[in-house]
This record gives sequence, C-alpha cells and structure tokens, in this order.
Amino acid sequence: MATPFAGKRALVTGAGKGIGRATVKALVECGAEVIALSRTEADLHSLKQEVPSVKTECVDVSDLPAVEAVVKGAGPIHLLVNNAGVTQLLSVLDTTPDAYDRIMSVNLKAPVFLSQYVARGMVERGDGGAIVNVSSVASSVALTDHLAYCTSKAGMDMATKVMALELGPHKIRVNAVNPTVVMTDMGKMAWSDPVKSSNAMTQIPLGRFAGIYTDPTLSVHLAFGRRLPGKEALVTALCVGRLCFLVLSHSLPLNYYLTP
Ligand code: NDP
Repeated sequence: MATPFAGKRALVTGAGKGIGRATVKALVECGAEVIALSRTEADLHSLKQEVPSVKTECVDVSDLPAVEAVVKGAGPIHLLVNNAGVTQLLSVLDTTPDAYDRIMSVNLKAPVFLSQYVARGMVERGDGGAIVNVSSVASSVALTDHLAYCTSKAGMDMATKVMALELGPHKIRVNAVNPTVVMTDMGKMAWSDPVKSSNAMTQIPLGRFAGIYTDPTLSVHLAFGRRLPGKEALVTALCVGRLCFLVLSHSLPLNYYLTP
C-alpha cells in the first residue's frame, strides 16, 4: 500500500471504538505515526495489541488541560481527527442541563479547543496541516430525541467553516465529514429500534445503514483532501453530508449523491 502520510504525525480522538478506531488503522496503513486518544484504557490496550506502532493516550477530551498537555508533549502534529462524540436519547421536554452540557462539551467544545491547541503549533511551524471534524448528517437533519446531539453537530459544522476561513491562509485545511447512521456501538444504541430505523431507512437509497468502512485508503484520502484518480469531484465537493455518505458507503452511484 502507498504511504502518503509517511513522516506525518496524526492525533485521533475517540480512537477506542467505531469510526475512530478504524481511522487510526487506516492512517497507520497510510504511513502516519498515530496518537490514539480515548477514555477507556481497555480499548486502547487492545488497539495497541492490534497495531503496536500506535501511541495511546487515555484522556477524556472534555478535560481540556489534560488534552492540552497531550498536545504539548506530542511533538509536531500534522493531522488532527476530532472524532470523539457522545449522544443520549432525550426528547426536547426531557433534556436536562447536565445531559446538554455533557454532549456539547464532548462534541463541540472539545474539538474547538483541541483544534486551537494543535493549530497554534501548525501556525508556529509554518508548515500547515489538516484538521478533520467528524460531524454528522444530524447537523442538518432534525432527529427526534437528538436535541443536544443535532445542536452540537450543527455547531461543529459552523466551527469547521470559521476554522477553515481563518486557518486556510496558514496552509491548514479544515473539513468536516458528516456520516449517516453507521452501525458502531453509538449507531446501535441510537438506531436499533426497528420502527425508528425503518423510517430512517426510507431516506437511504441503498436500504441499509453503513458499516465501518472497509476501504481505509479511500476514506483517509478523502478526509485529508488528497486527490484520488477519478475521484476529484468528491474531494472538491463541499456538500459534506453527501460526501461522507460516499466515504462510508462508497458503492453508491457517485453522481446521484453529488447532485445538489
Ligand atoms: P462509538 O460510540 O462507537 O465510539 C466513540 C469513541 O469515542 C469511543 O471509543 C469512546 O470511548 C470515545 N469517546 C467518547 N467520549 C469521549 C471522551 N469524552 N473522551 C475521549 N474519548 C471519548 O461512536 P462512533 O464511532 O459511532 O462515532 C464516532 C463519531 O462519529 C462521533 O463523533 C459521532 O457523533 C460521529 N457519528 C456517528 C454516527 C453513527 O451512526 N455511528 C453517525 C454520524 C456521526 P468510550 O467508549 O470509552 O466512551
């Protein structure tokens, strides 16, 4: 396999399970040196067994001083994937201030400040870099019982745009990817109810939710804006919700999903 990220150091949050874990493996396969940050030691231990070159950090992303210390001790970081995310199914009437704060703090506040810590280093070094925020289609689609989650992902999309605007002149590329339902632990928790899932499925032409993607090269190249032979339209498309749908289920007819 080609190693387009040889000599690059990547930091991936929420790396213990699901999309984050798959992203770590994909980046390692592409030659990156990866720091995998997550909050359950057992997950990081099993990741390290599978991928010995990975450096692990057991930290809660909402503990900003601890996160800043990881960044300071890591050396130059060229790629950041803000993937850690949480949800809790609560209706508008039942959402509590605590649940709201917890979701916003992990899904939005942590990515904003982690990006700031990493971007400061990139700006100082002057050699640019890339930040990928794992958002969701929930940033633009209202979902029942997802008040705080949808709000956090909508905020993440706007934070991504502002970061892209301000950091672009420093050669730092900032993008969001917006997956549809992916059958990770989080996906199963939110979408295993057959009534709810069959309603959602009517919006998905393939008639199934995405699994953890199996083509890491495609996903990682798309995430980091690399040009792929024959796939340039995808890379330059800013319709990120559809773009990520392709990342995760890329057997779909491309033109259909790129149509505005
Ligand atoms: P999973 O729940 O499967 O995995 C999330 C990972 O993030 C776990 O390793 C979890 O650790 C870690 N994590 C959660 N909170 C923290 C925290 N505070 N500090 C450090 N690590 C943390 O989720 P997915 O892989 O499904 O989701 C990954 C991202 O993709 C999220 O941002 C999610 O919102 C987004 N997404 C997911 C979709 C889906 O359908 N699955 C759809 C669209 C977007 P632990 O288990 O120890 O809590």
